[in-house]
Amino acid sequence: SVRVRFAPSPTGFLHVGGARTALFNWLFARHHGGQFVLRIEDTDRKRLIPGALEDILDSLRWLGLDWDEGPDVGGPYGPYIQSQRLEIYREHAHRLVDLGHAYYCFCSEERLERLRREQEARKQPTGYDRYCRYNVSLEEARRRIAAGEPYVIRLKVPLEGATSFHDLVHGEISVQNRTQDDFVLLKSDGYPTYHLANVVDDHLMRITHVMRADEWIPSTPRHILLYQAFGWEPPQFAHLPIILSPTGKGKMSKRVLQEQGRWETAVFVRDFREEGYLPEALINFLALTGWAYDDKTELFTVEELIEKFDISGINPKPAAFNYDKLEWMNGVYIRRLSPEALAERLRPYVEALGLRPDPETLRRAIPLIQERIKTLREGAEMLEFLWREEVSPALEDLVPSGASPEAVRTWLTEAQRALEALPAFTHEAIEAALRGLADRLGVKAGTLFMAVRVAVTGRRVTPPLFESLALLGRERTLRRLEAAVR
Ligand code: GLU
Repeated sequence: SVRVRFAPSPTGFLHVGGARTALFNWLFARHHGGQFVLRIEDTDRKRLIPGALEDILDSLRWLGLDWDEGPDVGGPYGPYIQSQRLEIYREHAHRLVDLGHAYYCFCSEERLERLRREQEARKQPTGYDRYCRYNVSLEEARRRIAAGEPYVIRLKVPLEGATSFHDLVHGEISVQNRTQDDFVLLKSDGYPTYHLANVVDDHLMRITHVMRADEWIPSTPRHILLYQAFGWEPPQFAHLPIILSPTGKGKMSKRVLQEQGRWETAVFVRDFREEGYLPEALINFLALTGWAYDDKTELFTVEELIEKFDISGINPKPAAFNYDKLEWMNGVYIRRLSPEALAERLRPYVEALGLRPDPETLRRAIPLIQERIKTLREGAEMLEFLWREEVSPALEDLVPSGASPEAVRTWLTEAQRALEALPAFTHEAIEAALRGLADRLGVKAGTLFMAVRVAVTGRRVTPPLFESLALLGRERTLRRLEAAVR
């Protein structure tokens, strides 16, 4: 049966590109009723970032990408954290030496550095010159190791021929063996390289399909050589097109986006979460970044994605990240929620603004925003005036161009009077009172409404004005009008 894995390195927060890789693997596993394995590749100790592992797990959970085997849930092929499997890699590296496919290398950093500089000076491709493969016998190597000399283990790459594999997305990929150097499998500190650990684990964990980002294509011929050296059957490979920045130029990185002058510099899953995207919208969106079912369908529930996903729908060309489409999609998903569900989703975002929304007001506010907002954060910001002790309108928002502060003061004082006199503080009564006032003052209704809106909510963008005032209540509305004229 199908077994796939997502194998992140905890070298940073979970990037949307990584999330897309995880999603495609997860969809493939669920589609085929197979297993989705989570494996943590943390053998490059210098690049580890504290907190990255927790972020990766949290982000995957938030997206709903559950794993059948992994660091916390365990499984038959664990442990699932590579730093807990060092003995396995060591043993396998030595086994390749015994099989005659790998050798001990004692070349010092200084020698390798000198070699690299000479190769560069001669404009030759850089790479290890196989000195120890040709000049150090196995007996000598064993003596030197016993004497405590540090060493690495390198693969004996065949000197001739080519290594090829059939990529399920890109087709036939072939590389001449003479272009590959004898890469390191086991480092002098006893840690495996990515190549060794990745291949050993994919084999021992019975992975059937490796789906990973395009950037790993150059590594795959090396992996195939390793499978051959061990005498193992390699899995199938599908390399996923990278996600580009919205302009289609450059990677989806904070730096590239900022250089392109984009305000939305969200690139990590946690950023999208913080901005108020729904996980189901992000899933739908990411599924369509590099994959398509047909040339028109855009909205898929996760069940539909599981049913329809297949590798043949993956586009081999890189896909640009389309924030506008994501926003639109998020709005669609927000409108599909029941009002109760939206209130529950919104609550943490209101709380993140330092407020304690009461359930009753929150419930009544939902119909005012559900059709208008594209993100939960936008909704929270639109509603924050309901729970703030006071609002602080900016003078330039309060006083429209062409009007004087004195005029605005008069309007707001009159508005207070008109609203105070209402028998019932309903949105219909408020609307009638303010329209009547605009007439009497000879001001455009829209202009008066904006001044009242800014005075009462502190913002120019709010839910519909009369409903907002009714919801806020007469007392607080009057208090804010009063505060604004002082
Ligand atoms: N640890 C690698 C990464 O961080 C895994 C690549 C692979 O899937 O082989 O992307």
